[in-house]
Parts: sequence; structure tokens; C-alpha cells
Amino acid sequence: MIENKIKDIQDVFLADERPWVVGYSGGKDSTVVVQLVFEALRGLKPEQLHKKVFIISSDTLVETPLIISSINKTLLQIQNLALETGIPIETHKVKPTADKTFWSSLIGKGYPSPRQKFRWCTDRMKIDPANKFILDKVSQFGEVIMVLGVRDSESATRAQVMESHTISGKTLMRHSTLTNAYVYAPIRDFSLDDVWNYLLSNQGLTPWGTDNNELHALYQNSSGGECPLIVDKDIKESAGSCGNSRFGCWTCTVVKEDKALIGFIESGEAWMKPLLGFRNWLSNIRDERDYREKHRMNGSVYFIGEGEERELGLGPFTLEARKMILEELLVTQKNTQNPYDPDYKLIQEDELRMIRKYWLEDGDWDDSLPTIYRKVFSEDLDWEYDDDRPMFEQDQITDLELLCNQHDVDFDLLKKLVGIEKNYLGFKVRRGLLQDFNRVLNQDKVHFGKVDGYKQ
Ligand code: SF4
Repeated sequence: MIENKIKDIQDVFLADERPWVVGYSGGKDSTVVVQLVFEALRGLKPEQLHKKVFIISSDTLVETPLIISSINKTLLQIQNLALETGIPIETHKVKPTADKTFWSSLIGKGYPSPRQKFRWCTDRMKIDPANKFILDKVSQFGEVIMVLGVRDSESATRAQVMESHTISGKTLMRHSTLTNAYVYAPIRDFSLDDVWNYLLSNQGLTPWGTDNNELHALYQNSSGGECPLIVDKDIKESAGSCGNSRFGCWTCTVVKEDKALIGFIESGEAWMKPLLGFRNWLSNIRDERDYREKHRMNGSVYFIGEGEERELGLGPFTLEARKMILEELLVTQKNTQNPYDPDYKLIQEDELRMIRKYWLEDGDWDDSLPTIYRKVFSEDLDWEYDDDRPMFEQDQITDLELLCNQHDVDFDLLKKLVGIEKNYLGFKVRRGLLQDFNRVLNQDKVHFGKVDGYKQ
């Protein structure tokens, strides 16, 4: 079966000039695919190795620590062996941009911790960066083929989705959103047994020298799916739960219990306990009304429930809650000593910069982030202050607040308007300024309860 599969992969590889992009998450299915592709290429003659194969892994910057170091090690070993043997493989990591990471979204903008029904994280942290990589290759090469480790037997829904994308009689499926990208799923017909039989053959050793028995051990005690590098939205939707195994983010609140962290701690990695404590706390505070705005991010107001039971819906985390979460995260960072990597950080410096920027835009005129940092670490952030520094001195802020009170003007609204004005400072043509003012002034939340009959 494996020999036939390798032959199939070679045939598809030789059939055209389109480069391949292989998604590798560190989990079992994508490991099978990477290994099969490697073996297939190794079996070809040098003159047949006519096109590039990119192996990409996503790093959400909140990956479970030991998993991401194992992915890094694997990518490096694959890359080294490919260079030694002349196989045209290039390994890459794709990451979310600083404005879309877990922390800049949650602590910076106030996105509530992800749940199954509001799973904003996979798009922002995995799909968008992977799609950007693919589109870049599409513009370079015209078309690309994405090679994914998806299997029909994983779920009936997934099998249906894959079927609906299949072009009859063809090995490649259409990508649901990216034109000029095609999907090749070489292990679509593999059962779970096929996966493990292959991975554990040859005593579990991969061509690049890692041991699949370690991968097998990671799957013990962890059930459910993984959060793979999914590069097709439709296939993602059919993937069911995400983060229920050891291959997801340590911050994942989509699942009730983080089996990944618990499993690692139980197997002796006690240093991860602060991470688990933080993750559980984050999950618990999610729906506390006091920590959430009563309007959506775009300012619209909505209700949940009916009649007497009716109450205002929950919006993003309030600025105060976000400050509290950042402080708790920094305290967790202070209490976490990763024995394998002394420089390990839970949040990166450019994310802190982005959070500060978002907070200033949201009216945090006290510029709280450096103060919170100093409170936790008893030292200052080593930052150059540029033009995002606060606009007013403290006494001016107090005067403005008093004036707003006197004239019954919402202080937060005023801060928003001043923030918009500041965004246009220095532009000769300030096209869009009035529209931006209008957008803010017309939000539900500004008028709610103040205009008769409005959303009563
Ligand atoms: S593991 Fe959880 S937090 Fe991470 S991308 Fe998947 S669903 Fe989101």
C-alpha cells in the first residue's frame, strides 16, 4: 500500500510544473504526508526534481511550548537533509502579523477568549498567514498545489466537504477560496491504523532522524482532533473541535479542559503549571458581565433572551478587563521558568507595542501599559517613545473629564473623536475624516437609552 502511495505521489509530482506547499502541524497526519513526500522525492532521479516543495508550519506564538520546539527541530532536520541530498524542499514557518496575534486581538482589541461558536483565532493566526504564503507563491509561479494531511475517515462531514470539492476523475480538489490553488490529499483514504502502521514502521525512525514513537506517546491520553495547519476554510469548518489534543495553543479556550497542558504536567513538566492556571482563569472570566462591554466592537447594541429575561448582549472585553488580563499574563510569565529555553516568553515585545497602540486608540490616555509592566517586573520597558505617546498631560485629562461631566458629554466618545483627529494629523488631504466622525457618532451605543424609543 505504501509503495503504491509513494508511486502515486511521484506521478502527481511529475505531472506538471506547479510547486507544492505542504502543511505540517507536527501532528500524526501531516507527519505521514511530509514523510511520504520526502520518500517519494528521494526515489526520483535528480533530473526529475524539477520544482520546489515548500513545507510550511504555522506558529501562532501561543503554541504549546514543547510542541513548537519539536516542530522547529523537525523543520531544521528536514531542511538539512534536503540540502545534503539535493531534494528541492524548503521549510518555512508562517506567523500572524503583530496586529493579529492572540494577545493583540484579545488584550489589545478585546476579543473574548475563543469558543467553538466564535472561533476568531484560526482565521487570524493560522489561515490568513498560510494563505498569504500561498498567494505569494501563486503570484510567483501562477498556480500552486497544496498538499494536506486530511483523511475522509476523520469525520463524515469532512468526507462530504472533500467530495464536494473533488473534480470528478481528478486527483486534485479545488481550493474553496483561493483561485489558482489546488488541494492534493494523498492520504485521504488512510485509516487511523494505516497512519500509525506507517509512522511506526522502521522502528518509528523518520528519514531525517526524529523518532515517531515520541509522537505516538504524545497521543496517549489526549483524545479528539488537533488544530492542524488548515489552509482551506471549508475543510476547517468540518474539522470539529480544535485544540483537544496536544497540538494546539496553550491558551486554547475552545475546549473545556486543556488536555495538552494537563498531559504534559502529569508526565513531569511541572514548570507548565502557571500556564494551565492562567488558561483556566482566562476561560472562567470570559462570560463575566462586568468584564465585557454591552455593545459589539462596531458599537452596535443587541439583546439576548426574551421578554423579562431579555438583557443586553456581551461585547468585547472592557479596557479595564484587558489591563487586568495583561497584568495576570505578565505575572504568569514572571513565574514560568522554561528549563529548555531560558529566553522563553509568553508574549512578544512587538505584541506589547501593538497592545499599547490599540489601547491608546481606545482612549487609554493614562498610557497604562508601561505602568503595568513596571509594576510586574520592577523595571521599565526598553522602548523608544515615538509619535504614539499620549496626547495630553494628566491635569489636562482631568480638566477635559470635568468639562465633559459639566456638559453631559460622554468622555469615552470624546476620546474616540480626538483619537480620530490625531490619526489624520499631518495629512494635507484629510479625506475620510468626516466619515470616521460620523461612524463613531452614529453608533448604537452613543444613543442607547438617551433617545426616546431607541432600542427600548
Ligand atoms: S488551538 Fe484553539 S486557540 Fe489555537 S487556533 Fe486552534 S482553536 Fe484557536
